[in-house]
Amino acid sequence: MTDPQEALEGVVRLSAAGTDSDVCSLYSYDSQSDTLSLAATWGLPARSIGRVMMRRGEGLVGLVIESGGPVKVEDAISHPRFKFFPEIGEEKYHSFLGVPVGLGNSPLGVLVLQSRRRRRYAGDEVSLLSAIAAHVRGVMTNAHLIDRLQRQEEERERYRREMVSAVQRLEAYEAAEQSRDSGERRIEMTHLSGQGVSPGIGIGQAHLIEPPIDPSAVEIRDGDGPEVEHARFEQALTASIAEIEGSRGHMRELVPEVGGAMFEALGMIIEDRSFAARVREGIDAGRAAETAVRLVIEEYVARFESMWDDYLRERAVDVRDAGSRILRHLLGVDLDMSDVEENTVLIAQELTLSDLATVDHSKLRGIVTASGGATSHAAILAKSLGIPTVVGVEKVVSACGDRDEVVVDGSTGTVYVRPGDNVMAEYRRLGVEYQEFHRGLEELRDLPAETVDGHRLGLLANVGLVGELALVERNGAEGIGLYRTEFPFISYRDFPSEDEQLSLYTSVLDRMGDKPVTIRTLDLGGDKYPAYASRPNESNPFLGWRSIRVSLELENILTEQLRAILRAAPGHTVRILFPMITNVEELRRVREIYSECLADLAAEGITPEGDIELGAMIEVPAAVLRASQIVREVDFVSIGTNDLIQYTLAVDRDNRRVASMYEPLHPAVLQSIRMVVDAAHDAGRRVGMCGEMAGDPMATVVLVGLGIDELSMGPLYLPVVKKVIRAIDSNDAARIAAEVLECDTIEDVKASIFAHLRELGLIELVEAFR
Ligand code: PEP
Ligand code: MG
Repeated sequence: MTDPQEALEGVVRLSAAGTDSDVCSLYSYDSQSDTLSLAATWGLPARSIGRVMMRRGEGLVGLVIESGGPVKVEDAISHPRFKFFPEIGEEKYHSFLGVPVGLGNSPLGVLVLQSRRRRRYAGDEVSLLSAIAAHVRGVMTNAHLIDRLQRQEEERERYRREMVSAVQRLEAYEAAEQSRDSGERRIEMTHLSGQGVSPGIGIGQAHLIEPPIDPSAVEIRDGDGPEVEHARFEQALTASIAEIEGSRGHMRELVPEVGGAMFEALGMIIEDRSFAARVREGIDAGRAAETAVRLVIEEYVARFESMWDDYLRERAVDVRDAGSRILRHLLGVDLDMSDVEENTVLIAQELTLSDLATVDHSKLRGIVTASGGATSHAAILAKSLGIPTVVGVEKVVSACGDRDEVVVDGSTGTVYVRPGDNVMAEYRRLGVEYQEFHRGLEELRDLPAETVDGHRLGLLANVGLVGELALVERNGAEGIGLYRTEFPFISYRDFPSEDEQLSLYTSVLDRMGDKPVTIRTLDLGGDKYPAYASRPNESNPFLGWRSIRVSLELENILTEQLRAILRAAPGHTVRILFPMITNVEELRRVREIYSECLADLAAEGITPEGDIELGAMIEVPAAVLRASQIVREVDFVSIGTNDLIQYTLAVDRDNRRVASMYEPLHPAVLQSIRMVVDAAHDAGRRVGMCGEMAGDPMATVVLVGLGIDELSMGPLYLPVVKKVIRAIDSNDAARIAAEVLECDTIEDVKASIFAHLRELGLIELVEAFR
């Protein structure tokens, strides 16, 4: 790369020669200190570079910045703004021509020509110098970027060093604690790590959840006589049915999508007459009740496992689960979790939704599991309940005893079992800091997402589970910008009926009152497939039978969903969003189906009050290119960046191998957003964004600058994005958006955004959320 300083010197030399001038100088302008300094010169003493400095209100050079346009002076010395710098001997130069470098409200510097001969610079010389200034702007921008990148690098290095020293501090504490324990304390502090799936710091006492009883481990033995064994079995069966009933009710409240359905299956097996009849036969044949149960479970499991259908095969899990509940009651294993104590950290090999359902959440400080991934149901639920959670901590069950003290750091995936005093003190401090940090952000809850110059955006939340609504309310969302309905569809045991959907949508709408709720129609396919629907065999599922394509083919499913939404809508502000629209024809067809649903419901006497807005997701490049046509068919559009990025950059959103290429700030992505915003605004339509990019505080400035009207994101990110919005000026944001659209590389885009965030003092906040 050419050294920018050398390039600038070349420019001033050639400019002087090309314009018959004795001096050509470039002054660079620093907006923060509002000063100009000599950056390169041909004709003035080289030693003055970096030394000659003036404020914006000083000298003819300052006048160029102030006027924002060319300044021509025939006799500079007699001009009232002339400023004498003894070290450069400018008094010999009479005529002056200066032009600004950079845009009017964000100048980068001033390019100046001077000549000894008294002369009037002509119009074409002014044009020539302005053209050179445009070129210089590019070189200077580059120089600024290199400088910013260096500073950014230094900053990162500083963070890295701080992190390393924090870890070293903790390790030193750990060592000190352990050496202090010279035999007195038998059990030492254990440091474990896994994947943090729900951020925050929790400190409490361990409550170990016993693994479910493995039926094949139950002893095969004869019973104490059929009468005794029958009584034992009937008692255990009744207790299991009552337990399932209780859990079903609790779960319905907690996670309406899955709660009822999940326990339905267990209930069906436990209450199944032939299951009980087979057990009774075993008891009659002289077996102990638990042995008879074990054998029937094994028989059923083998039967289900040999089935050809995936869905039926998976039911073997339910049989085992149901069977182990009865066995627990028979063997007197107490798994009652309703009595967990205050400040509990749940420790489990694997945590199921039913485990979580029976606990009083207000007493939970953390959750640690040996297995499980970030998207397991329990992890999603823990996150929506705001409980710090770490999963994948292989040895946690063996390392931890009941009532042991545990520290759970859900942000970094760190777990300390029996922490020493110093570790504890350090984490208590961090916990308080974390809470203060969030409390600070929560103070923004009821403030509008408004820039300093009064430009207001809509800030909404993305949800998939009713359980997440608590966080949505806590973080002050103005509504739901994306309700992903496929989540409940996947969790059910079969396509949910119109009535089941009606009750689900009603619970979401009731919870949100009169705030808008954007319900997206089923977005199946790709990586989202319910077990009960037969998945087509496709080599490229993301380019295959997914989303609106499925809904248009399985029309009755779309019809049922639209009817359920329309029936739930009265009294609420509902928007319906259609995913993965690729062409206008698809929209016209869904509108036809929608009108038929309206007409049918009207005939049944049901009419949704007010207008329901219909919107299209823009997540395919074809929809970007045809945005002007698409926006005319709908009331609003919402940009789904998760898919738009993968399709625009040809990078699979779930492929770790190419994850580093999945880049929301790629200029092509930004350009696409600009095209959609312009098309929507030209047609007078609202444009929102509901992909993950909407919740990335690093992107906020640019998104505001590009003119997005609404941002919808995971509820956790609402406060930080609002904080960034409230710190910026929409004109600055527009300037930065224009600047980044001109960038050639992603690095340039990032450097530009970083510089702005740094100026606003927001870097640390933004980094904390990335
Ligand atoms: C998107 O693609 O950006 C989007 C919001 O939809 P999903 O992530 O559900 O595909
Ligand atoms: Mg999508």
